[in-house]
Amino acid sequence: MTSRYQHIVIGGGHNGLVCAAYLARAGKSVLVLEAANDIGGAARTRELAPGASVSSGAHLLYAMPADLIRDLKLTSHGLTFSAKQIKTLSISESGNTITFDGNTIAGVSLSEEDKVAFGRFSTDMQRFATVLRPILNKIPPRISIETWSERIELAGLGWSLRKLGRFYMREFLRIIGMNFYDLLDEYFTNEQLKAAIAMDALLGSEWAARSMGSVLTYLCRQAGYSHNGATGLSLPQGGMGALSRSIASAAKAAGAEIRTGAKVKRILVENLNAVGVELDNGEQILADNVISNADPKQTFLKLVEVEHLDTGFVRRIRNIRSSGKAGKLHLVLKGAPKFNGVDASQLGSRFLVAPSLDDIELAFNPSKYKEYPKAPVLEITVPSVSDQSLVKDGQHVLSAVVQYLPYDDSEQEDANRAACLDNILNQLERHAPGIKALVVKAELLTPRDIEREFGMTGGHWHHVEMVFESFLFNRPVAALSRYAGPVGNLYLCGAGSHPGGNVMGLAGRNAAKQVLESTKGGN
Ligand SMILES: Cc1cc2nc3c(=O)[nH]c(=O)nc-3n(C[C@H](O)[C@H](O)[C@H](O)COP(=O)(O)OP(=O)(O)OC[C@H]3O[C@@H](n4cnc5c(N)ncnc54)[C@H](O)[C@@H]3O)c2cc1C
Repeated sequence: MTSRYQHIVIGGGHNGLVCAAYLARAGKSVLVLEAANDIGGAARTRELAPGASVSSGAHLLYAMPADLIRDLKLTSHGLTFSAKQIKTLSISESGNTITFDGNTIAGVSLSEEDKVAFGRFSTDMQRFATVLRPILNKIPPRISIETWSERIELAGLGWSLRKLGRFYMREFLRIIGMNFYDLLDEYFTNEQLKAAIAMDALLGSEWAARSMGSVLTYLCRQAGYSHNGATGLSLPQGGMGALSRSIASAAKAAGAEIRTGAKVKRILVENLNAVGVELDNGEQILADNVISNADPKQTFLKLVEVEHLDTGFVRRIRNIRSSGKAGKLHLVLKGAPKFNGVDASQLGSRFLVAPSLDDIELAFNPSKYKEYPKAPVLEITVPSVSDQSLVKDGQHVLSAVVQYLPYDDSEQEDANRAACLDNILNQLERHAPGIKALVVKAELLTPRDIEREFGMTGGHWHHVEMVFESFLFNRPVAALSRYAGPVGNLYLCGAGSHPGGNVMGLAGRNAAKQVLESTKGGN
C-alpha cells in the first residue's frame, strides 16, 4: 500500500476533473488517476502531424454553464476562446446554404413561411427547454420520496412544467415522446432546413430523426445551450484540451493530485464497500471513497468484481445502450478549403452536411447492420481559422463528426475504415472542390477507435444513450441515478450519469455535491 486519500477519482476526463476540483475546494484530499498519458478524456487536443493539432474528440463547446466556468475561475486558469457565438451554415453540393444565427435563418431557398416558422419553432423549443434546464443542475430526487427536501425537489420539477401554462404544458407532454421527423414536418417544408435542425437532436446519438425520443435529445441540447451564458457555440483557444487543462489547473490549485498513465485495473471492495483501487502495475491505493469517471459498463462490469454485485443489477448494466455511432474525421490541409456557397469570411462557421431528413435516415440505416453509410451526415469545423496555435505555415486543420458509423469489430475493420475515409473525402470534394489536393494527413476514427483512444465503452459520445429509459431518475439505471449504487462508497461522475454527455461538467459537479452530502460529518 502506498498511500491513502479521502477520494480517488478514476479518470481525468473533464467530468472527473470538475468533480476533483469541487471536492478539493471543499478541503478533501483527492487523487485523480487517468489511464491515458494526457488528461481530458474525449475533451482533449492531440497532435495529428508535426505542428498540427486538433480536438480529437469533442470539438465545439456549447453546454458548459457559465457559472461553472466562473466558479472554478477557469479563465484565470488559462481558458480563453478563439471564437464565440459561431454561426451554423447548412451547406450543399450546389452551393445552396442556410445560415442559422440565433432565432433567425437566411438562405435563398427558404420560403417566407419557413422563416416565420423558424422564429416560432425556436421560441417554442426554448420555452420547453426551460422545463429541463433546472433539472440539469440537480441530483435526481428519489422517486420513493423519503425526505421533505426530496418532496420539494420533486414538486419543483412538476412546477417548472406547470409554469408553462395549460396550453404549452399539454403541448410539451404531446411532443416530448415524439420523433423529431414528425415534429419538424409540423413546422417546416424545406428539407435541407429540417435536416439541419435535426442534427442538433442526433449528433452523438444512436438514433435518427424517425426514432422515438429524438425530441427529448433536442430539448436536452437546447437546455444546455441556454445554460451557457454568452459563449454560444465556441472554440477554446488551443482546442478542447485547453479547457480540460484549465479545469485540471483549478483542481490542482485547490490541492488535488493528478496522475496520468495510471490505469485502474480494479476497485478494491471489502464488505460491500469500496476501499481503494489497484492499478495495472499492481500498486494499491486506499481511499474512503472511489468516484468513477469511467462509463458505467466499465465501472461495474470490469473494475468491480462481479461477486460483489447482484445478478439483476449486472443484467441491467449489461443492457445499457452504449453503441456509439459517431465517428470523427481529422484533416491537415495545406491551405484553406473553399466550400460551395461559403465566403472566405464564413470559414470559421460550423458547417452541416445533411441534405434532407430522408438522407439522414439513409445514413443511419446501414449502421443498424454494422455497415457503413454511402453518404454520412457531417458536422464540420475548421478551428485553425480562428486559432493559429493549432497549425504552422499557413496550414489548416479540419475536424468533423461523421454519422452514422458502425462499431466495427470485424476482420475487415482497417479496409472498411480506409474505404469509408475515401468515400468521405470524395463527398467533401463535391462540397469543397479542390479539398482533396490540400490534404496532408487524413484520419478517420470509428466508434471502435474512439473506444480505444478514450476508453469509452462502445465509443459512445454520452457513455450511455440519451433515451427515456436512461434519463433523469433512470440514468444510467434506476439503481445508480443519484451517482451511487449497490457498492458503498463508490460513486459515478461521468457522462453516463445525469444529466448526460457533452462537455458540460455537470455530471462531475452534481456527483461532487452528492459525495459531499453523503459523507457529511465523516470523510
Ligand atoms: C466523436 C465525438 C465528438 C464529440 N463532440 C462533442 C462536441 O463537439 N461537443 C460536446 O460538448 N461534446 C462532444 N462529444 C461528447 C463529449 O466529448 C463527451 O460526452 C464528454 O467528453 C464525456 O466526458 P466525461 O469526462 O464524462 O468522460 P470521458 O471524456 O470519457 O473521460 C473518462 C476518462 O476516464 C478515463 N478512464 C477510463 N477508464 C479508466 C481506468 N480504468 N483507469 C483510469 N482512467 C480511466 C479515460 O481515459 C478518460 O480520460 C463528442 C464525443 C465524441 C465521441
